[in-house]
Amino acid sequence: MTSVAPPSLFIDGQWCHADSGATREIRSPANQSLVAVVDEADSADTIRAIAAARRAFDAGPWPTTPVTERAQLLTRLADILQRDLAGFAAAESGDTGKRLVEAEADIGDVIRCVRYFAGIAGSLAGRVVDTGNPNAIARIDYEPVGVCGLITPWNYPLLQASWKVAPALAAGNCFVLKPSELTPSTAILLMHALAEAGIPAGVANLVTGAGATAGAPLASHQDIDLVSFTGGLVTGRRVMAAAASTVKKVALELGGKNPNIVFADADWDAAVDNALTAVFLHSGQVCSAGARLIVQEQIHDRFVDALVERALRIRLGGPQDPTAQAGPLISEQHRAKVAGYVQAAIAEGAELRCGGQVPSDPALADGWYYLPTILDGCRSEMTCVQDESFGPVLTVETFQGEDDAVRIANDTIYGLAGAVWTQDAGRAARVARRLRHGTIWINDYHPYLPQAEWGGFKQSGVGRELGPSGLLEYCEAKHTYQNVRPGSSGWLEG
Ligand code: NAD
Repeated sequence: MTSVAPPSLFIDGQWCHADSGATREIRSPANQSLVAVVDEADSADTIRAIAAARRAFDAGPWPTTPVTERAQLLTRLADILQRDLAGFAAAESGDTGKRLVEAEADIGDVIRCVRYFAGIAGSLAGRVVDTGNPNAIARIDYEPVGVCGLITPWNYPLLQASWKVAPALAAGNCFVLKPSELTPSTAILLMHALAEAGIPAGVANLVTGAGATAGAPLASHQDIDLVSFTGGLVTGRRVMAAAASTVKKVALELGGKNPNIVFADADWDAAVDNALTAVFLHSGQVCSAGARLIVQEQIHDRFVDALVERALRIRLGGPQDPTAQAGPLISEQHRAKVAGYVQAAIAEGAELRCGGQVPSDPALADGWYYLPTILDGCRSEMTCVQDESFGPVLTVETFQGEDDAVRIANDTIYGLAGAVWTQDAGRAARVARRLRHGTIWINDYHPYLPQAEWGGFKQSGVGRELGPSGLLEYCEAKHTYQNVRPGSSGWLEG
């Protein structure tokens, strides 16, 4: 379709429409109401944006702008986000269908992320290294990588974008951002905020559109130096393969199938509460969701009964329903995928304890809701245990002893996150150490810190986001060796 909606591509400091004139309607997953009409960029628009970022990087001044000024711009951005928090949260809820209170918390996390990278930008100061030669000086400097292609998913749209945009700018890079085609609204607001904060033309560019068209050049084009992608494993493999032809720096944050291990001596109430939060927060559409409960044999029956009893009481509802505890899935297509996953699990032998269907409440009929679902009697070789459903679906496995728990929890191609629940501090430390997953919570689930690092082991990703390593992902380390007696190192020197 075409329309006269405001332009949503931000290229070289200007708002513009897609060359083709194509647009896309964004509809609320909670009730299918129209929330926005945005431009549908194709690869030609993205190549235009890449060219703008390339010019801005090569001509400067952003890469050589003093780091204190780059940090000040990020601080101004954080202040604007804080001022406009309500508008950002409403836009995020509109696109994703998530509860307003969750969207507000997400924008709070975005602000903390931007302030964190503003705060550590100065840590990029180079350092002198010892040469062992009194006539030579050597140092290491951290320089921006160049033009970055930033590709983000729909579950935490602005938060995932901020994990990339903030460190990329702090380090002096230029970028082209492509948010998920399902949730572009807050990325558009972010560009308005960056423009207000004073970002120079061409440093920050935005294209809205589908992955295979608007996104693909960010992984393959020769003028992109780094591609940072967050999304599904299959797309991540595609991005990595496309990046190989020009040997780009690649950062991937992919899926997870995250074990939540509960020992018999765990604090009962906290373990039950968090087992529910782990998997049903944002209706399971969380990369680190604790979708795989691994519970010790002697408490299995009582623990699963308690979860089922509570899961049946989870109240579903849209962004504006203050009593809702979980919202809809992102799209009809995604709900069909989750439903198919549950049917396949039952066919594989899993026991459906609750959920497994669309809610019957007529008030929810226009949204893509799916009931919180618990599948008992699962084993690690089952597809439902190995594959990410990315929906409100918990699989339950049972273990006997510590070694058994670790073996089961590590039996996955993924390695994003996991948790262990026990009141035995020694056991908690031992098990956490042996889990091959990038983030481990002990007696908790889901909290993360911008100053700590985030990233997956195994096929959950490549590289780290957040923390000091998250900033270094956007830097090249240059070694300079300077001899004050020119030529004195030559081996033929007489
Ligand atoms: P997706 O892989 O379908 O899409 C992610 C992004 O990639 C979107 O912007 C999409 O348009 C784009 N894309 C698709 N094909 C592309 C291509 N050929 N070239 C370039 N870009 C392309 O993922 P999704 O459904 O949006 O998000 C859900 C997935 O994201 C889940 O697997 C989840 O676990 C993962 N995720 C991981 C983290 C993490 O930190 N590890 C965080 C959030 C989400």
